[in-house]
This record gives sequence, structure tokens and C-alpha cells, in this order.
Amino acid sequence: MRKSHKAVAAGAACLVAGAALYGAGAATAGQSTANSTHEPYNIGVLVKDIDTYYGTTADSDGVYQASPDSPYAEDLARIDADARRYIDKAARKAHRHGEKPAVVFDIDDTLLLSLDYEKRTNYTYNSTTWNDYVNKADRPAVFGSPELVRYAESKGVEVFYNSGLSEGQRAAAVANLKKIGADVNLDAGHMFLKDKANPPAYLKDCATAAAWNCTTVQYKSGTRKHIEDDLGYEIIANFGDQYSDLEGGYANRTYKLPNPTYFVS
Ligand SMILES: [Mg+2]
Repeated sequence: MRKSHKAVAAGAACLVAGAALYGAGAATAGQSTANSTHEPYNIGVLVKDIDTYYGTTADSDGVYQASPDSPYAEDLARIDADARRYIDKAARKAHRHGEKPAVVFDIDDTLLLSLDYEKRTNYTYNSTTWNDYVNKADRPAVFGSPELVRYAESKGVEVFYNSGLSEGQRAAAVANLKKIGADVNLDAGHMFLKDKANPPAYLKDCATAAAWNCTTVQYKSGTRKHIEDDLGYEIIANFGDQYSDLEGGYANRTYKLPNPTYFVS
């Protein structure tokens, strides 16, 4: 599902970037027909644009890292600042009304950055190489994310994780989140991962032990519904790098973090 939709992400980026180029009169000779044909955005140019956005550089171990002064980092800092102001205010309000406020975080590219994997694989998902990468438990933090997790906790907001990682990847996810300093509520009662072999009863409309048929939106929104309706929390904010992390309700506010490297429907 993830792989087949990467082309959609590239197409969407094309519209934006293509319009920007046209408007600036900056189209190169190689792109000169792109405004009069349906030719997609040039993938070589797009890859360079993505490197520029992250300020991608190889560290001394040859691992691709995002730069803390990149446009990506700037976008994250702006989102973080807004989220902190909002969490503070919404938590106070919830506590006044006797509600139990909660925040929900996706994990991949919301808390743990997969840029090195994406660049190394030419932005092409493969379940085997992805699993090997996740199990190294050595991904860097998405800038500001461990601090934001701890900030929410400091305001009396319950932190939950809602991820498409599998149960088999739980130990690595926990170890990696600890390593980056997001050491808050990393127990199974707060970290919801995909358990296809034994899906929870609250996903019964789309998943049974015999067959998993949940879309990402059904899985993630169904989990948020469980947090609200069964566990009694009020989800004040939901953070994700994919629109499918955020659609389907059960959150008072959603925060879309940037990720131009793949698209999960
Ligand atoms: Mg994600």
C-alpha cells in the first residue's frame, strides 16, 4: 500500500514545485516543455529539492542526517511552537472541565526520522529492508519531538503512540524512543502497534484473526476512538506525518508534520 502511493506524493509535489518554478520564471531548459505537457516533475530535480529541504548530509558514519538549520527544521520548529501553546491552553481547559486530556503521536517520521533509509533505498519501500532498518533502533529524532512528548507529559497530558509498526517491531520502537529521549509511557497500554495476528476487539469492523482488512485511517481512527470511548481520554491533539494518521476524527486538533519522502494512503 505504501509503495504504490509514492508516485502520488511525487505528483502532488510536482504541482506545487512546478507552479513555483513557472511563477519565478526559473524553468530550466530541461524543464522547458513541462508547462505545456503533462510531463511529471523531474525526479532528479525532486530528489535534489528533498535533499535541500532536509539539508541532507552524511555524518562521519556515512548516515544521512537532516540539518538542524534546514527548511525542514524551521517548519518543525514553527509547528512545535504552535503545538506547545495549544497543548498548554487545551490541557488547562480540559482539567478545569474534569476531563483527562491526551495527545497521540504517530512514530515513523513523526518521532523517529527515516531519512537515511529513504535516501538509501531511493524512496522505495521494501518490507524486508525496512524491518532490518527499524530493528537497528538507531533512528535519530524528528527535531523537537522528544521535547514535545515530554512537554505534553509535564502539562498533565497523557501521551499515547499510534503506529503502523508491527508487534514484532515493538522492542525496537521502545528502545529507539528511549534512545532519543522520548521516554514517556512506552508501555503496551500506551503504545498501540499493529497486531494483525490478534487484532483488538475494538477493530472488529475491519479486522479479525482470520483477516486484516483495516485501512490506515480505519486502524488509526479506530485506535483513537478506543482511547476516547473505552479509556475515557479527551484527545486534544494528534500528530502525524501522513494525512492518513490524521483523518477519521477523534482528535480536537491535528498537526501534520512535513514528510515529502513517501505517501501512506
Ligand atoms: Mg509516520
